[in-house]
Amino acid sequence: LPMPTVRSDAPGSGPLVDSFGRIGRDLRVSVTDRCNLRCTYCMPAEGLPWLPKPEMLTDDELVRLIGLFVRLGVRQIRLTGGEPMLRKSLVSVVERIADLDPRPTIAMTTNGIGLDRLAAPLRAAGLDRVNVSLDTIDPQEFVALTRRDRLGDVEAGLKAAQDDGLTPVKVNAVAMRGINDEDVADLLAWCLDRGYELRFIEQMPLDAGHEWQRGTMVTAGEIRSELEKTYRLTPLDGRGSAPAERYLIDDGPHTVGIIASVSAPFCAACDRVRLTADGQLRNCLFANSESDLRGPLRDGADDADLEAIIRGEMWRKARGHGIGRPDFHQPDRPMSAIGG
Ligand code: SAM
Ligand code: SF4
Repeated sequence: LPMPTVRSDAPGSGPLVDSFGRIGRDLRVSVTDRCNLRCTYCMPAEGLPWLPKPEMLTDDELVRLIGLFVRLGVRQIRLTGGEPMLRKSLVSVVERIADLDPRPTIAMTTNGIGLDRLAAPLRAAGLDRVNVSLDTIDPQEFVALTRRDRLGDVEAGLKAAQDDGLTPVKVNAVAMRGINDEDVADLLAWCLDRGYELRFIEQMPLDAGHEWQRGTMVTAGEIRSELEKTYRLTPLDGRGSAPAERYLIDDGPHTVGIIASVSAPFCAACDRVRLTADGQLRNCLFANSESDLRGPLRDGADDADLEAIIRGEMWRKARGHGIGRPDFHQPDRPMSAIGG
């Protein structure tokens, strides 16, 4: 079959660069769009129309594509979803990624449910670290936010991650107005006690229901003020391409991150690119287009063909996500399908 012609001015060699000179080093891979929680800022109560199995990349396809990215200079693979641990073959996928040369750093973003059993095998397979999403340690707030009574499972998962060396264990939290926004300092105290590094993330317009409103979003500034009722926060410089603005807590050595993805976007330093569970390449969470890799892959594309598609998609990356501009258009696919 004829291959699609990729029209772009992307260079044909060297690292994965976009037209603004940013280099792709961090590939986020959604290994499934399914989930066992229903976080209100992410999914509707009834779940989503999940991708049909035949449309999802097989393990071989996934590993082949990840291998290509690694050859193109990607240094970190972050497994996400949906809930990545719902992919039955996850441990073996991690093992195969760890076999790539050069071996990338392998991280995972997870809700933590089941990590109590999987932390050790994942670590043995080559997983380096985890980010566990946990917005509150109050059982009632947890149910309000996730629509499931699973706080105990998440706590057990976090503990296993710490005990089994998936460290530093990071916790990601979203503050929601009227639910957990006044309890952010309790969550921080809880994480400090256990040695977990906490980072707050502003809620982004990625919910399946398209109900996000800038006016009701809890801003990074508000989170900081709330934390400052309990802790003294000193900003640390030099965040590089890392999106978290980090603060030293009291006299240190511990820190807390607050990611102002909406109110102070970090697009200029972005080094990310995303692969969906059905093999679509996206150059930004907020991109309104994607490049199909699965079709060409299944039609027999060779590595050079796939590389051209990848380079073309990277080259088209926009300067910024533009949330807040009147012409901003929320992506049609929700976060769980894109890979958070
Ligand atoms: N299920 C896994 C988890 O929850 O960690 C991985 C996928 S989830 C989509 C990845 C991250 O995206 C989580 O930390 C979650 O809190 C965050 N997230 C989801 N929807 C969001 C939104 N609308 N705004 C900000 N963060 C969001
Ligand atoms: Fe599931 Fe993660 Fe979305 Fe929550 S944020 S519904 S855990 S995919």
